[in-house]
Amino acid sequence: MAEVKLRALGLREVDFGDFDRYLTVLTEDGRKVEILCKNARRGKKQNPAARQFCYSAFILSERGGRYALRDADLVHSFFPLAQDIERYALACYLAEAASALASPEEDSPALCRLLLHALYALEGGKRDPALVKAAFEWRVMAESGYAPDLAVCGVCGKGIERPPVCFSVRGGTAAHEACARRVGGFEPLADAALRALAHVLTSETGKAFAFALSGPARAQFCRMAEDYVQYHLGRGFDSLRFYHSVALPQP
Ligand SMILES: [Zn+2]
Repeated sequence: MAEVKLRALGLREVDFGDFDRYLTVLTEDGRKVEILCKNARRGKKQNPAARQFCYSAFILSERGGRYALRDADLVHSFFPLAQDIERYALACYLAEAASALASPEEDSPALCRLLLHALYALEGGKRDPALVKAAFEWRVMAESGYAPDLAVCGVCGKGIERPPVCFSVRGGTAAHEACARRVGGFEPLADAALRALAHVLTSETGKAFAFALSGPARAQFCRMAEDYVQYHLGRGFDSLRFYHSVALPQP
């Protein structure tokens, strides 16, 4: 049995048997790993660092690609998010989306960095949760091979120099206004939404959530982000439905 040391963020817990638990984590390399935590629910044997929304340094034993918990040391706990139902529900959705995009075999370090920064942004309480959500959705898709193309018109193939710009969620591409009108299926993109989208797609991971947006541009940016994830991944998320059931209506 080999000893493995890694840093990872707890995404999801599934209890089984009388005392045991599986913890799904996202490693700092962006791989998804399932850890068997024996006796995780038995009083004194619980390790508070091997929980959902804890970023911890794990020591695991590995055999044949299966991992079991030996020890975990807390680096940072996002668990206080659970005190606010809306932000907690959102954190659960971000974790589920990251989990859907992470693979057990392939590294994707940007995925873990992005999720950690999104959780820091939610934890800080200063960022608009709806914008954290949308920025995460756009950027996580871009990091996972579904980057929307804003530079080249999806209809005529020429560069897009300046607004007005239209966008197609399904096509994953922008277009000149005249080209978009000719073929249909595009939506005029508010200038502020376009600037926010360009910022989110090109900034360092740590700065992706540092922007403001309001009014109809904010609504469009958020709606399109959610549609973009669901359309290109071809699925919905239980945690997203839960988030919508508890989120306050937008002004
Ligand atoms: Zn064009």
